[in-house]
Amino acid sequence: MNILVCGGAGYIGSHTVYELIEQGHSVVAADNLCKGHRAAVHKDASFYEGDLRDSTFLDKVFSENKIDAVIDFAAFSLVGESCSEPLKYFDNNVYGTVRLLEAMVRAGVKKIVFSSTAATYGEPENIPILESDRTFPTNPYGESKLTVEKILKWSDAAYGIKYVALRYFNAAGAHISGEIGEDHSPESHLIPIILQTALGQREQIAMFGNDYPTPDGTCVRDYIHVTDLADAHIKAIEKLFRDETSAVYNLGNGKGFSVKEVVEEARRVTGKEIKAVIEGRRAGDPSTLIASSEKAMKELGWTPRFNTLTKIIESAWNWHKTHPTGYNDK
Ligand code: UDP
Repeated sequence: MNILVCGGAGYIGSHTVYELIEQGHSVVAADNLCKGHRAAVHKDASFYEGDLRDSTFLDKVFSENKIDAVIDFAAFSLVGESCSEPLKYFDNNVYGTVRLLEAMVRAGVKKIVFSSTAATYGEPENIPILESDRTFPTNPYGESKLTVEKILKWSDAAYGIKYVALRYFNAAGAHISGEIGEDHSPESHLIPIILQTALGQREQIAMFGNDYPTPDGTCVRDYIHVTDLADAHIKAIEKLFRDETSAVYNLGNGKGFSVKEVVEEARRVTGKEIKAVIEGRRAGDPSTLIASSEKAMKELGWTPRFNTLTKIIESAWNWHKTHPTGYNDK
């Protein structure tokens, strides 16, 4: 199949491009490179540099390629930043996807896998979280993704665009080949920051809040390996071709780790001391997010392979050790 991957130079996008190519698909990757890295895009993918908010750019991509399905990762994704700059998030994440859907309608492309998030739930009602649970985002990032899910539902009804929205929990780790990994600038995610501290690039890691209603007071998250997420996107595309029905799935390992536990495990994997201090809470953070991924396992036939925190941190450490300054292109 010929798959257009929007945001294909980003962290999860580049890992998905890699898996698609490994599995014999043709890939057109589009990215505005404002966050992504050209070097992260697999050499066998065709690459277009441009922005989803630019309809002329999108029409060019669709007219020059016969696209069977789209995977859309192109978005801003920082919870804290979204609270201070919400309009930036609605502009890029919502307006960009609307432009993409319009271009799909013009080009007659009717299948899309959308990168959604556990942040659509907000403070959860139940743990583990089911797809049918209440969605009430506590930050604009989650709100922007939930808004797109609603837009997808109505686009299915009106234009017959079938979609799978994948609600990721905490993406982490790096490709097993060591060729691609996580490189955000500035970095704000927990595991890369811990590993930068292990490398001596930071003096310490600040743990945001120790007064949450969790066993050790720090936030609990469900970490899922980026290659497992990539696999789920391919299985979602296969599902859309198999039964042509839209659906929403959680993607996580179903196991939660506190910030303190992640720091502890990273100390074990790296053999480094990794100084950690407690700071105040970060705006918009729910205390506990743990997925039930039963539905994805059953309906997509998806099983996470890198399903322990140890495997996730080991792969991330392998990338950070060999790429201490990331892709070196910013
Ligand atoms: N976190 C932290 N210190 C940091 C970065 C993150 O304590 O320097 C916490 C954050 O508050 C959250 C968890 O680690 O509870 C995971 O945050 P991350 O930014 O990696 O992912 P998010 O949950 O925002 O998707």
